[in-house]
Amino acid sequence: MTPLRYVRAADKVDALARVSSGARCLGGGTNLVDLLRQNVEQASELVDISRLHGAIQERDDGGLFIDASVTNAALAAHPLVRRRYPVLARALLAGASAQIRNMATVGGNILQRTRCTYFYDVDGARCNKRQPGAGCDAREGFNRYHAILGASDQCVATHPSDMCVALAMLDAVVHLSGASGDRSVPLADFHVPPGATPQVETVLLPGELITGVELPPPTDAMVRSDYRKVRDRSSYAFALVSVAGGLALAEGRVREARIALGGVAAKPWRARRAEAALIGVAPQSDAFVAAIREELADARPLSGNGFKIGLVERTVVAVLTALAGARA
Ligand SMILES: Cc1cc2nc3c(=O)[nH]c(=O)nc-3n(C[C@H](O)[C@H](O)[C@H](O)COP(=O)(O)OP(=O)(O)OC[C@H]3O[C@@H](n4cnc5c(N)ncnc54)[C@H](O)[C@@H]3O)c2cc1C
Repeated sequence: MTPLRYVRAADKVDALARVSSGARCLGGGTNLVDLLRQNVEQASELVDISRLHGAIQERDDGGLFIDASVTNAALAAHPLVRRRYPVLARALLAGASAQIRNMATVGGNILQRTRCTYFYDVDGARCNKRQPGAGCDAREGFNRYHAILGASDQCVATHPSDMCVALAMLDAVVHLSGASGDRSVPLADFHVPPGATPQVETVLLPGELITGVELPPPTDAMVRSDYRKVRDRSSYAFALVSVAGGLALAEGRVREARIALGGVAAKPWRARRAEAALIGVAPQSDAFVAAIREELADARPLSGNGFKIGLVERTVVAVLTALAGARA
């Protein structure tokens, strides 16, 4: 790790000024510090926003605004999140460990990098994301954790966040601030597929900060929602596959369905085809299977992760079946 300057941001204006002039934003540091230590990323100045004590505010319409510096632990424990968006609380609690959730921030979680082992192996592996044009050792290598949807010849890495899968399912909006002003982007559009430029992972521009995340007023399927994560060990492991699901029924039929998938793509994958296929059907497992198969029609598994197709199917059916049986 090369020497760098550490500055604690006085406020958001100070943080933005420093990031605009080239400093890297430091949240809890639970990903960035590892990346710097291992020389995967470089920085000359860090501006720490973790002490800004951001808040979670209820909007007049019943939605929430969550400041970027709110910790994962505080967000998971918030009573309105637990009551109105249970999928988000459960996704957060499925991630990392209690100690890491106490440090990790909302902004940092959204911008955490992939866990592809070749991305971290600076001395021994080829990685187009780390070094554009170098090649991708994951394609023919250890790719059990890698993408089955939306990948490219250049990159098959997945986005590792649990929280972001729930945020995509909830139609969350990311608020950004930069030298040329403020803007907002739906979380589902914030991360971009790798294409020919896997080093570009999001629509965040140089010098921009994430200032917060907005959740819309809760719909019935947001309130009746759940998150299930399948992994190689029962805690402290990244997802092989995860499902954020929400269901609302009327007169024995599906009125609203929300599904997002984790562990399958370079971004949280909102399963809009499956959602559309479920509207108006009786909430039974054959309908759930048919819907998720429509979503997975374009899946392209690699040598080591063909099992993910069946795993996604079974996890979606399990989540939706439980939600259909849950009391309204
Ligand atoms: C052992 C271990 C296990 C883990 N397991 C899981 C898991 O199962 N599921 C899961 O989802 N995550 C897991 N994580 C990842 C963890 O959730 C992330 O490391 C964490 O959320 C990152 O948040 P942070 O605030 O520490 O980010 P940092 O490390 O501080 O920053 C990450 C990136 O975000 C940028 N950044 C931070 N805040 C902002 C902002 N406001 N605006 C612009 N840029 C910003 C930084 O510059 C950096 O590029 C695990 C991590 C570890 C170390």
